[in-house]
Amino acid sequence: MKQRNPPKCLLNSSLDSPPDKFIKNFEKKVKKTIEYYQLCSPKDKIMVAISGGKDSTTTLYLLKKLGYSVEALHLNLLIGKWSQRNLEKVKQFCQENQIKLQNINLREELGASLCFFRSHIQTKVKVSNCLICGLVKKGLLNKKARELKATKLATGHNLDDEVETFLMNLIKNKLSLSLTAGPLSNKLSSKKFVPRFKPLYFCSSQEVKRYSQIKKFPVIYEPCPCSSNSFRRKIRELLNKEEIKNPKVKQRIIKVLLELLPILRKKYLRKKKEKINSCLFCGEPSRKKVCKLCQLIQKVQEEKTEKK
Ligand code: AMP
Ligand code: ZN
Repeated sequence: MKQRNPPKCLLNSSLDSPPDKFIKNFEKKVKKTIEYYQLCSPKDKIMVAISGGKDSTTTLYLLKKLGYSVEALHLNLLIGKWSQRNLEKVKQFCQENQIKLQNINLREELGASLCFFRSHIQTKVKVSNCLICGLVKKGLLNKKARELKATKLATGHNLDDEVETFLMNLIKNKLSLSLTAGPLSNKLSSKKFVPRFKPLYFCSSQEVKRYSQIKKFPVIYEPCPCSSNSFRRKIRELLNKEEIKNPKVKQRIIKVLLELLPILRKKYLRKKKEKINSCLFCGEPSRKKVCKLCQLIQKVQEEKTEKK
């Protein structure tokens, strides 16, 4: 799919409008995003990855309201009370809205809670909490969505998330990681990837917050307790400060990112001509012989054997 430049209406915000007008404009923007970028069709079986937070709950609500065929997919990360509360909210929302909920539990999938898994890895390699969590979520949500025969996977990523990720990759000189940016990431060349899309791509975090508050969705607004030190948080604070001095800076950055994407794809895809293989251990799609998640699992196992 070509990443088209967004029309002006997608870059506008009506955060200051009265509630009725705000709701109408917000819903219009999400609908327009889906249609303009052809993110999904009524024929799709869509799994919506729902965390219990405002963004994914809003995504699920709106896709259903717009008439698409949706189910909810929740991964219980087993991060103590925080995960328990998220699960309760997800269950409540799905029950109230008559949406089928598919639950995955990390202990069943990986044999351990995220905290346990992470602490073992971090004694071996220097990787951040969020990087490990991101890998686990991405891998398991894709696997489950595929097993459930979903044709699309929707996530609640919003404008702020996308701009933060782009800046993080830019600062770390890892722009090749931005290849899957854009409202639809039709992941390269493996049938094992369920195409992902982001209906809230042009909605700021503040807009989604206001929408979810007006709608009184049962959601958790606090961030994950393990992410307090993250690089992403620092970038977020920086961007929010800048937005006060320089309104719409995030919209401008996203516009630049979408203009850059075809160039980035040309540059990095030509370099990375290698095929997408299946991981030797789990069979999931991977560029290397062993996928990143299995490499981490191996580290945990190595440590267990060393201790014996
Ligand atoms: P995050 O990586 O926490 O910023 O979340 C980005 C998106 O991933 C959310 O909007 C959800 O769609 C999805 N997601 C995050 N955590 C979970 C979870 N525990 N279960 C299912 N989906 C999730
Ligand atoms: Zn693997």
